[in-house]
Amino acid sequence: MQTASLTSVLQAWLPPLPAPVMSALLAAALALSLVLKLWLASRQVRHVRQHRGAVPAPFAASVPLGAHQKAADYTAANTGFGMLSLAVSSALLVGWTLLGGLHGLNEWVLDHTLQRFGPLGYQLCLLTVFALIGGLLDLPLELYHTFRLEQRFGFNRTTLPLYVADLFKGLLVGALIGLPIAALILWLMGTAGPLWWLWAWGAWMGFNLLIMVLYPTVIAPLFNKFEPLQDELLRGRVEALMARCGFAAKGLFVMDGSRRSAHGNAYFTGIGAAKRVVFFDTLLQRLHPGEVEAVLAHELGHFKHRHVLKRMVSLFALSLLGFALLGWLSTQVGFYVGLGVQPNMAAPNDALALLLFMLVLPVFSFFLTPIAAQRSRRDEFQADAYACAQSSGQDLANALLKLHEDNAGTLTPDPVYAGFYYSHPPASERLAAIERLSPRPA
Ligand SMILES: [Zn+2]
Repeated sequence: MQTASLTSVLQAWLPPLPAPVMSALLAAALALSLVLKLWLASRQVRHVRQHRGAVPAPFAASVPLGAHQKAADYTAANTGFGMLSLAVSSALLVGWTLLGGLHGLNEWVLDHTLQRFGPLGYQLCLLTVFALIGGLLDLPLELYHTFRLEQRFGFNRTTLPLYVADLFKGLLVGALIGLPIAALILWLMGTAGPLWWLWAWGAWMGFNLLIMVLYPTVIAPLFNKFEPLQDELLRGRVEALMARCGFAAKGLFVMDGSRRSAHGNAYFTGIGAAKRVVFFDTLLQRLHPGEVEAVLAHELGHFKHRHVLKRMVSLFALSLLGFALLGWLSTQVGFYVGLGVQPNMAAPNDALALLLFMLVLPVFSFFLTPIAAQRSRRDEFQADAYACAQSSGQDLANALLKLHEDNAGTLTPDPVYAGFYYSHPPASERLAAIERLSPRPA
């Protein structure tokens, strides 16, 4: 029994996890992250408010004061909203774990399902009921964000009927996709032996690749209309750019993003032969063909520098680490008891382990945010440089400024806040870098 001996080596190597240690770890990480988040948010709001009165000098000619002030107000409102949802989600996390909420829910689901549906059925019911309750609890804040906050700044274009239709479609798609993979992972946890987590990781990765193939062609069209790009002039420019960069895609599409929101975007989606380029209609309405070309060249830069591949590889590696950690935690009684749950005696605890792990993981992984953000900002600079080489740097700068204004992004973020969170460099830094690569003619 080679696997059994490997597991016993691991068990001996890692000390057992006492329940009070698990409780204390969660409480400490949660408290520390709350203090850090509040401090960063208050810095951001203060900094943006202090610079609300005047457009920064490099943008004085291109950004009207009204747009600058709208961006300041939107940033402050969104940051405040973030703090409100932080308070709610932290209270819910403590309620589910340390205060015994998940324990109570588990007892109830166990009583009502184990006899009727068996161990796997009970576990799938637990995951489903938890997801439904969690979704319901999140709903008020989500409604407030879409219909109050986004509405107030003129970004919301969705209606209540469309919102409700999206909600039900999302539930259906979530169930069709989520239940089979959950069942597969629970089955592996129960039957694949001590190294189940390795198999589960493999299944999870395969599932992710499958979604990447299915998303653009099957899932996204359930929510939006995708039409081939009609504009001949733009089509010609885009195809010439892609030929120049040696890039093949299955097609160019326009998506009706304006049905839900005024925010504009362009993206690549899918892998291999399913790859396609998607423009939001809101982007095409706002940018000249040259600017659209520059935005696309930036996206091509991400591919040329293999950013997408590198991100996928790190995601795969991190998931392996996560599954290995879960493999160990799920054998520790202290993991369950320390997080407020008494493990089942008469039924498997795998769904409980999955739920607890997904609940508390973000509290700890939050501290990695600045590393991921820094890597992402470096990638953005590289993609901008690629776009400057393959198309017009000036068009790229104009497009960035327009998109920034349309999304009410602030030009004056707090440097510490931006350094911690921003996945894209602040506009001033991006524009300065573009300027160095392709100076404007005097
Ligand atoms: Zn980018």
